[in-house]
Amino acid sequence: MSFDSLKKKIRDVRDYPKPGIVFRDITTLLKDRGAFREVLNILVERYRDRPIDLIAGIEARGFIFGGALASDLNVGFVPMRKPGKLPAPTMTETYALEYGEDKIQMHVDAVAPGQKVLLIDDLIATGGTLAAAARLVEKAKGEVFGIGCVIELAFLNGREKLKPYDVFSVLTYDSE
Ligand code: AMP
Repeated sequence: MSFDSLKKKIRDVRDYPKPGIVFRDITTLLKDRGAFREVLNILVERYRDRPIDLIAGIEARGFIFGGALASDLNVGFVPMRKPGKLPAPTMTETYALEYGEDKIQMHVDAVAPGQKVLLIDDLIATGGTLAAAARLVEKAKGEVFGIGCVIELAFLNGREKLKPYDVFSVLTYDSE
């Protein structure tokens, strides 16, 4: 399946969650077993046989791709969640949104010192979420092996914010 065919499986929802935003809805890709498999195959190809101990997925769509990829790569999975969702003691990072701020949490014992962690989310926009997730891994004295996502909104320059990490995206959008 070509990159263009994969992009056609993603539904663009205009003005969601607010006016002016084009929301890239991956639910239409997920329900297509061929497209879902293809995206995972590209990620497996990229990260197979690399020294990765854990995949950390970002709530909520990062759980879908991160969980499946962890199974395919035979590595463990760590959830990074919105505040108040994880039951045991957590560490927290705060990051800026267009208006206000948001927080992301990880269990304090999720990553052991020295473990190599691959961060996975569905989409990189400004890169703020994944940058905060990377800080959580480093707070736990883990090592960020890299950052992988399905969609990169390249015109928002998330990659800049994620320097010097190795960033890989399956599909890139150069404009809205
Ligand atoms: P950011 O922190 O700006 O890189 O935003 C990334 C997070 O927000 C990801 O978890 C995405 O799921 C979500 N997100 C941001 N912009 C969009 C968009 N245009 N379409 C779908 N999800 C988005």
